[in-house]
Amino acid sequence: MSKSLVERVIRADVRALSAYPVPDASGFVKLDAMENPYTLPQALREELGQRLAAVALNRYPVPSYTLLKEKLCRHMGVPAGFDVLLGNGSDELISIMSIACAQAGAKVLAPEPGFVMYGVSARFAGLDYVSVPLKADFTLDRDALLAAIAAHRPAITYLAYPNNPTGTLYDAADIEAVIRAVGDSGIVVVDEAYQPFAQESFMPRLPEFNNLVVMRTVSKLGLAGIRLGYMAADPALLQEFDKVRPPYNINVLTQAAAEFVLDHTAELDRQAAALRSARSELAAAIAGLGSVEVFPSAANFLLIRMANADKVFAGLLQRKVLVKNAGKMHPSLRNCLRVNVSTSEENALFLKALKESLQERI
Ligand SMILES: *Cc1c(COP(=O)(O)O)cnc(C)c1O
Repeated sequence: MSKSLVERVIRADVRALSAYPVPDASGFVKLDAMENPYTLPQALREELGQRLAAVALNRYPVPSYTLLKEKLCRHMGVPAGFDVLLGNGSDELISIMSIACAQAGAKVLAPEPGFVMYGVSARFAGLDYVSVPLKADFTLDRDALLAAIAAHRPAITYLAYPNNPTGTLYDAADIEAVIRAVGDSGIVVVDEAYQPFAQESFMPRLPEFNNLVVMRTVSKLGLAGIRLGYMAADPALLQEFDKVRPPYNINVLTQAAAEFVLDHTAELDRQAAALRSARSELAAAIAGLGSVEVFPSAANFLLIRMANADKVFAGLLQRKVLVKNAGKMHPSLRNCLRVNVSTSEENALFLKALKESLQERI
């Protein structure tokens, strides 16, 4: 294809981007993407297989997704009178909100370091993106946030609760102050992708705020492959976002798999509980090494800081352990790595590789 065609047709800001990098992890202990390391038990997998075999692949999905939404509302504690809107992962929900709010001059605001898709999606939709730095310990800088809200009147404010890539569970009173400060001039999206590991939620508080959106996903819960996110908010808001949603955005296999798994949430709850206790053990073991700082985490990963983290990252790669070199994501994450909490076997492999890599880094 001629270069001039690309230059004529594709937006300059898109051409200037590099594609979202996903490293090839084959042969690695994969601890970089916040996946749940557990699968469903064999008996459940066989039953799921039968369910999926019975799905009518020749038919379009029924776009109301009534049964799936009903099950999500019931199992995920959505308050009475509130409904959910489904997305092909919460990534799609973020872009639906961006598109629906993309009026001239509208802005999106989020603390940083945070989830990169908030800014990416805002820019794709033509919204201005404003970031507010977290404090050095990665807690919310309430005064700075309130000042930015007053100055920019953002249409969308994102708060990941807990935050990725830091794992921080922000103070609920700070979040409440943000929701009130934004008031009627914008929505505040509390992104609860890691709720199973935090066990704190703004979901029950939806009736208190007409500008609050609570967004969740089944990805970190153990179903990253099926791509299903959902959000709950005041019906008047959801109704508008639903107009932007592609009508068949949840495919029939995802729908059937999610409906099945939602009838067996006890298994996922057990897995999340195992990961929560593994998180404390892993955090203590890493802190015990002496030369590594471990930040408090309410998610299924730990953010850790050490001298010469690039070398430690390379040492881990050599030992076939893949974590995220968080220092490359944001300046305030210098010398930080982000590592998934996993099974006891994989956590032990990581610890051993970390110890060796720390020793040879100088
Ligand atoms: C992983 C993650 C998501 C994306 O979830 P998907 O449903 O897999 O698209 C959203 N928000 C945060 C903060 C995340 O870490």
